[in-house]
Amino acid sequence: MALAPLIIVSGPSGSGKSTVLDRLLEEKRWPLRLAVSVTTRKPRPGESPDADYHYWTKEAFLAEAGAGGFLEWADVFGNCYGTLEREVTPFRESGTGVVLEIDVQGWEQVKSRCPEAVSIFIRPPSVEELENRLRKRRSESADELQRRLAGARVELARAGEYEYQVINDRLEEAVAALRAIVGPLFERKFHA
Ligand code: ADP
Ligand code: 5GP
Repeated sequence: MALAPLIIVSGPSGSGKSTVLDRLLEEKRWPLRLAVSVTTRKPRPGESPDADYHYWTKEAFLAEAGAGGFLEWADVFGNCYGTLEREVTPFRESGTGVVLEIDVQGWEQVKSRCPEAVSIFIRPPSVEELENRLRKRRSESADELQRRLAGARVELARAGEYEYQVINDRLEEAVAALRAIVGPLFERKFHA
């Protein structure tokens, strides 16, 4: 039986990945879920355990990695982030598509294990606007913010490795662009 779609969404921290995906998933157009990643970073104010992330200790994270429980994992800005295999495969097998919001290192790993995955890179309109958004979000210290901006330049240089690029300038337009990429993946399945 064909597996339901797997969609990878990457982009610099602050480019608006969570905002755009939340809007798209809220519409409930397709059987599609966002995999909840595991992280060793602390929750931000307003984030909920097991809804935004599973917050684990580094020891628990490395034990799971050693046991082969992650589809992919990477060190991002000094913390570990990973996608549990059990957050993905059982859903795809039962007809629910899965979105992974992961960094470029994670995509490299998924690409070799799941070559059928569709990849989308979300870009900010400019690095200046990215910095504005990160500052307004007020979720990181000054040091953290600088690390994320430095990381953004590295990630942006690899955007061309993705099948699609979407610029998140006006939110509605970015959501529409994503909708236009994701919709046909489900239509294809229904018409197969
Ligand atoms: P990411 O998940 O990529 O780190 P977020 O979704 O947290 O990014 O967005 C970063 C900040 O930018 C948030 O405060 C969000 O409200 C804001 N934001 C997202 N998209 C837009 C947009 N199109 N225009 C202006 N602000 C935006
Ligand atoms: P944040 O701390 O802002 O929530 O996430 C920082 C970055 O970590 C995100 O931009 C995202 O690209 C990356 N990330 C989040 N979850 C995962 C994951 O499960 N795997 C990998 N490889 N990266 C992730």
